[in-house]
Amino acid sequence: MKYSKQREMIFRAVQSMKTHPTADEIYTVLRAKHPNISLGTVYRNLNVLSEMGKIKKIRISSGSDRFDFRVDDHYHMICQACGEVIDIEIPELDPVLKRLESEGFDITELNLNLRGICNKCRRKKEEAI
Ligand SMILES: [Zn+2]
Ligand SMILES: [Zn+2]
Repeated sequence: MKYSKQREMIFRAVQSMKTHPTADEIYTVLRAKHPNISLGTVYRNLNVLSEMGKIKKIRISSGSDRFDFRVDDHYHMICQACGEVIDIEIPELDPVLKRLESEGFDITELNLNLRGICNKCRRKKEEAI
């Protein structure tokens, strides 16, 4: 299979998974249909795609990187209990970013992850008490 074809396939897999998958999860999905694909190929292409700005790489300090089909500005809440990554918008942050840019800082990357317990897990915990 051609290199560009593989990249396109990996790109489409990320687009179809709305769950902020890890490289391993993407690999598992692809391997079902394409048994010849290697984990290394998936990793490499995910990194190329995120450098190209076609997908977003979310670096997670406590675990594997996640990949996001959304490339517009948004942030993430990560549940420590179930591992779910939830998209959040913080429009209140826009003026702050604009001010920093006007003060001369050219922002090229913005990663903001909040760690905590999601609503679902919090409720489960409360019910267990
Ligand atoms: Zn949770
Ligand atoms: Zn996201």
